[in-house]
Amino acid sequence: IDKLVDGNSGFSPARAIELGQLLVDNGISHFEEPCPYWEFDWTKQVTDALPIDVTGGEQDCELSAWKTMIGSRVVDVVQPDILYLGGMCRTLEVARMAADAGLPCTPHSANHGLVTLCSMHLLRAIPNAGKYLEYSIEGPYSQQWADDLFLERPYKVLDGHVEVTDAPGWGVTISPVFLDKAHYAVSTAG
Ligand SMILES: [Mg+2]
Repeated sequence: IDKLVDGNSGFSPARAIELGQLLVDNGISHFEEPCPYWEFDWTKQVTDALPIDVTGGEQDCELSAWKTMIGSRVVDVVQPDILYLGGMCRTLEVARMAADAGLPCTPHSANHGLVTLCSMHLLRAIPNAGKYLEYSIEGPYSQQWADDLFLERPYKVLDGHVEVTDAPGWGVTISPVFLDKAHYAVSTAG
């Protein structure tokens, strides 16, 4: 079992490095978002100081920010969220930038809706897929909204692995019952 820890933007560089040393001593291999995510210089101090993977990027949706983060090696592993970032094409662009810099990509996917499926497809499509698929353990109640989201069971976890479907599209059908119950809103550009 690999043990991973998420700091959720919670620490100063000095505190994150101190805590990170405890993580090293306890065999934790991945320290996510140790400092406020917009403080690239802070996070880089932690990345440079610790021998384990310092990771991040789930909040970042500007390609210019990604360019800085990857160009300055702020993190050891990039973690874009396909939905926060604005879709598959923009995330592939971030993954490509990371690949060019020799960095792995382990997407952020924090719920059991479409984002986990999209992340599986992305991981299969890129040469620098990280070691993990994030599978949310938040809940159980906070994930119930996604229980009947798809008509099919979209994937099965077997021995710690999932098989990505070759079916067209994402390989799933959104349940009409779910869509009927959904809240609809229209936004317009003025
Ligand atoms: Mg996180």
